Amino acid sequence: MATDSRQERAARNQSLFREVNERIDSTATGLSPMFTEFMCECADDSCFEHVSLTSEEYSSVRKMGPVFFLVKPRHVYLDVERVVGGEGDRYEIVEKQEVAAQVAAELDPRS
Ligand SMILES: [Zn+2]
Repeated sequence: MATDSRQERAARNQSLFREVNERIDSTATGLSPMFTEFMCECADDSCFEHVSLTSEEYSSVRKMGPVFFLVKPRHVYLDVERVVGGEGDRYEIVEKQEVAAQVAAELDPRS
């Protein structure tokens, strides 16, 4: 079981990448179905890998709510989140749990 502080730290890190991705999305061309390279929003603060999504896919993840993040496949930390969706080997969608979910919701730039 993760400690609260570890969950909180992970959620803050992921929320930071979410803000970066919001900026990436706002500068994307919108030429669907072209892929845009977004930052992996996983809980590993040394991860700077990219995930490829169309702008539509990205928007649909953001619409799911403030506790959902997009990550590279297998960049999942089951002690703080669970997998709720994704698209093959391009990306997975995780839902934050417990304390991490609270922190992520507070930091949501769209709320
Ligand atoms: Zn990652």
